Amino acid sequence: MATSTGGRLPQIGLEGEPVLEYQPAVDLDNGRLLGFEALLRWRHPERGLIPPNVLIPWAESNNHIVELNAWVLEEACREASRWASAIQVAVNCSLVQLRHHQASLAAKRALAATGLNPDRLTVEITESAVADEQANQDLGALLRHGVHLAVDDVGTSWATLENLRRFSIEVAKIDRSFISALEPHEGMNRAIVEAIVHVSHSLAMSTVAEGVETAEQVVVLKELGADVAQGFFFAPPMPADEARVLATSEPPVLFSLTEVGSDEASSEPLALPRT
Ligand code: C2E
Ligand code: MG
Ligand code: MG
Repeated sequence: MATSTGGRLPQIGLEGEPVLEYQPAVDLDNGRLLGFEALLRWRHPERGLIPPNVLIPWAESNNHIVELNAWVLEEACREASRWASAIQVAVNCSLVQLRHHQASLAAKRALAATGLNPDRLTVEITESAVADEQANQDLGALLRHGVHLAVDDVGTSWATLENLRRFSIEVAKIDRSFISALEPHEGMNRAIVEAIVHVSHSLAMSTVAEGVETAEQVVVLKELGADVAQGFFFAPPMPADEARVLATSEPPVLFSLTEVGSDEASSEPLALPRT
């Protein structure tokens, strides 16, 4: 076995322990469960669950991010290795980690330690990482390990198209800020999402809409040709044991793409996953 975290919890000088939650990603064509995004939290004995937007910047500025994200990668790969083989897992990766050439190393170790097929792992990077010279080498190494790359929060700081092409980015995740204001007769956000979908498809990338909360947003996203959706409309991030039930379900889980209780396409009218 390659040197891995050995299941050891990251020692980052914080009481408590890391926890991963998993949020489903749903195919907008048919409601099929495609995979889960692993999202980090820290369970602290006094402060409760510390969210990633507090934890990650703190870990970055205290030099703990490499150890923390190595744990995330291995834990997420281990969990995914228990799921049906068609179900994918996505893990977020920090720019700091890429700059230190540690993301590819951590991914390699996690894959070796868990036996997960690299084809089932997507590493999510930010637009700023795509444009960052220092991060380039690690992105190349990640690709050589056979994992997929996705760009997160697309639209918040447009990466150059040249860079997206250069790194064979396969997935563009459209930032929640554009989705949350997406209504049938709304102009501006619709135009932005349409443009992102168009550019992504021209570059052979698929699109994931983040933060989908309503059936109206699903309708507009389907009209605009977005491929995959994540959001509270389908399911919030959930504990590993709940995700595992969905990820191992036979027949595979289908989510409703319409209002709660009005899915005409499906014989079972449920907005919740049909297991
Ligand atoms: P992200 O990767 O863009 O993750 C999506 C965030 O949107 C998650 O917040 C998720 O809980 C939230 N979300 C999902 N659906 C909805 C919705 O329908 N409505 C609303 N209002 N929110 C929704 P979370 O879990 O707090 O994560 C925040 C960010 O923290 C992530 O954004 C990601 O950038 C970062 N992060 C999370 N886990 C990790 C990690 O393991 N490593 C690194 N480096 N960053 C992480
Ligand atoms: Mg993400
Ligand atoms: Mg995002």
